[in-house]
Amino acid sequence: MYVAVDDTDSSTWMCTTFLATELIRALDDLDLIGFPRLVRLNPAVPWKTRGNGALCIRVGKGSGKRQYIGNIANREIFCYETLEEEPEMDEVFHRSVELVKEWSQTDHADPGLVVCKETPHPSLYEKAVHRIISKEEVISYLNMDHRLFQINKGRGIIGAAASISWVPDDYTYEILAYRERVKWGTQRYVDAEDVRQLDTLFPSTFNNFDEVLAKPAIVPNTSCPILYGVRGDSYEDLLKVREHIHSENVDRWLIYQSNQGTDDHVIYDSSVLQPNSSYALEGTIASFPSTVQGGHVIIVVDVGEKLECAAYEPSKDFRKVIRALRPGDRVKIFGELRETPRTLNIEKLQVISLAKSLIKTANPRCAKCGRSMRSIGAGQGYRCKKCGTKSNDVVMEEEARTISVGWYEPPVCSRRHLSKPLKRCNLE
Ligand code: ATP
Repeated sequence: MYVAVDDTDSSTWMCTTFLATELIRALDDLDLIGFPRLVRLNPAVPWKTRGNGALCIRVGKGSGKRQYIGNIANREIFCYETLEEEPEMDEVFHRSVELVKEWSQTDHADPGLVVCKETPHPSLYEKAVHRIISKEEVISYLNMDHRLFQINKGRGIIGAAASISWVPDDYTYEILAYRERVKWGTQRYVDAEDVRQLDTLFPSTFNNFDEVLAKPAIVPNTSCPILYGVRGDSYEDLLKVREHIHSENVDRWLIYQSNQGTDDHVIYDSSVLQPNSSYALEGTIASFPSTVQGGHVIIVVDVGEKLECAAYEPSKDFRKVIRALRPGDRVKIFGELRETPRTLNIEKLQVISLAKSLIKTANPRCAKCGRSMRSIGAGQGYRCKKCGTKSNDVVMEEEARTISVGWYEPPVCSRRHLSKPLKRCNLE
């Protein structure tokens, strides 16, 4: 039986993953089948609270391989490979409803709960991770026996149903450690040096430490119950990571299977560019970069249409890469297309080839007397002060480029949950 929830928290309180741990705690007479899933959906959804994550667990009587994946309320949590027997749907539903009611932020959220035995068609996940989808369309996918519960507008039904329909192709894991209840909202203690060492000690983990900001990226800034979350490709390594990190007391922890770090949100077909979706686009740089108020760097890329692409201030040194691009360079850009202004927010970039870039190194020389000419005014050319001769022929030289062909990505703290880090692509 699949039990999925979304949109239960606010930006200042709770976290839907914590509700997932409460569901596991309350449904303790049932086994977990497979890992609990933390499924990120379209990051361009305007009404998301933070990372547009939905949660799904599968429960029943399990058999086959048993894996140790967590500890909740001093109980070791295991998951099983195969479902042996389904539990009774209404009972699971009613018990889950009580928890959704108890843990939802009903002032600020639109909680949704979906319970079903069969999974909706995987195209639901494809739509929900790529596009904006209506609740009505999502419900049309639920053409099997199912139960729904919602509070307020129940928009969470969208993410909840989509998380059930995810068929993991590429996937990662995340271990989430939670704080003791009395500590919620206070400053967290996680040893920064332990976190810095993770990349070296556990190369299968990623997005651990932001060297630019010199701080752990695994520790949230919000007042939610999460202490830290470490992402990686190896579930076994994540079990060891927990023992390596010194921190304040961990109340509970759980390992989730996730689509984080997979680029699942990226659409590779560039024939129709719809806002509120993310794309990988190949094109030619069509302007010099410019820095606008707030420190954001803008460049125009010809991808069939002349598209403004932006590296925002939080992407820090990544902006230097954009500033080093010149007209004629061939690039492949990954990013989210915003509606207004119609701008692509760059998440990752491949420089495919570099154009010859000529820059002005001196004013023209007078053909008659050989003197250096003076500018008459912006866009009006040059004039020799002595003999009055005019010219536009400035001295141009090939610019030494400060960028090379290859892949570039923003620093850890400004990456999207779904963005596939170059480390995972073996391109770092
Ligand atoms: P958190 O990360 O703290 O759990 P969140 O960022 O996931 O919060 P939510 O509060 O869950 O944000 O809000 C996201 C809302 O958008 C949910 O109601 C979810 O059902 C809905 N949603 C998710 N994907 C789509 C989509 N593709 N189209 C329309 N709505 C979506």
